[in-house]
Amino acid sequence: MATSWKTRLIHPAVSAPEGFRSLATPVHRGSTTLFSRAAEAQDNWNQEVAPYSYGLYGTPTTLELAARIGELEGANHTLMTPGGQAAIALVYLAFSRSGGHVLVPESIYGPSRDLAIDMLAGLQIEIEFYDPLVGSRIAELFRPNTQLIWCENPGSVTMEVQDVAAIAAAARSHGIVTALDNTYAAGVLFDAFANGADVTMQALTKYVGGHSDLLLGTVSVRDPGHYERLGRAHQLLGMAVSPDECSLALRGLQTLGVRLAHLEQSTLAIANWLADRPEIALVLHPALESCPGHKLWKRDFSGSASVFSIVFRDDFSEQEIGRFVDALKLFKIGYSWGGVTSLAVPYPTQRRFRPYGDRLVRLNIGLEDADDLIADLESAFAKLAAPTGAGTDCSRP
Ligand SMILES: *Cc1c(COP(=O)(O)O)cnc(C)c1O
Repeated sequence: MATSWKTRLIHPAVSAPEGFRSLATPVHRGSTTLFSRAAEAQDNWNQEVAPYSYGLYGTPTTLELAARIGELEGANHTLMTPGGQAAIALVYLAFSRSGGHVLVPESIYGPSRDLAIDMLAGLQIEIEFYDPLVGSRIAELFRPNTQLIWCENPGSVTMEVQDVAAIAAAARSHGIVTALDNTYAAGVLFDAFANGADVTMQALTKYVGGHSDLLLGTVSVRDPGHYERLGRAHQLLGMAVSPDECSLALRGLQTLGVRLAHLEQSTLAIANWLADRPEIALVLHPALESCPGHKLWKRDFSGSASVFSIVFRDDFSEQEIGRFVDALKLFKIGYSWGGVTSLAVPYPTQRRFRPYGDRLVRLNIGLEDADDLIADLESAFAKLAAPTGAGTDCSRP
């Protein structure tokens, strides 16, 4: 059939040579995916039973990343989400219902807490915050309508290490789903499923991406029933991910091992140096004894990561701590972590358990030379001790 050039723009008669073999996973983009016959067309989210029915449910690029994360985590099924926060929302919406009760550790990632308070409360789901160090005493908080328990190990600002095994065992005996935010451990330093979690999610934005240039999340499960609930919710919410982002994450995955090993050593060197500083009351790094839950970290983790917090002595004001952060040169000020650049952010932590007030600064250690980072911190401490510039600081006696 002779066709116009306009038609050939859409249906070309030529194509590139076949047989290309590269080490990189190709980027397969697509909304529409093609069926061979009309009878095969079906809108099924489960790409394990209905291969490639719509781009929303996956392309070979996104499904390869999902499968590789699932393999690392020891999951049976992994779903991709547009970010870590979307993964959290997906878990909430799949496993809690109107009239239900959900337990959330007070150490939970801030936007996860906000989602619970601002949205779920409006859906008649009752949220109760618990002390992250509660352990098996979590059972005292169970009610007949408790549907879901969140854990985050460790909490990514106040760093409490949780007894996930004890919490999950108690939950299981009452038929309650335990979900874990496993972002700190990059899905590898803590074995969520071996410790009894039913659902584990992580923000690939952090360590898997590793370069502060993408947003992605995953939700992984072992149980087919849990997979059904999540997959259906994922479809209904339209949680599409970009194959380009997944391609970057697949590249990041290849260097995750060396980056984590290097970051662990640099971060420990800096955390230990900070622990000896007279300005610092507490270093909240799970590998240090000063961190709440440190013994559980020793029992349960195969390593530590690059994010931790410092708490200044209580005679430092919020303004002085802000001045310390502003004086840093190599450490940049910004949210998120797990990339190659060191970051510092003050976090107010007014709350019931372990309130650190305005004295907490969270650090992310990047791939800069650790001695240079220590020198940067040292010169910021020096400026704190001897304020310079216009006027005197009247905020302290
Ligand atoms: C960053 C983060 C998230 C959210 O991830 P995004 O990809 O930024 O949406 C969730 N949980 C924890 C612990 C995080 O640090």
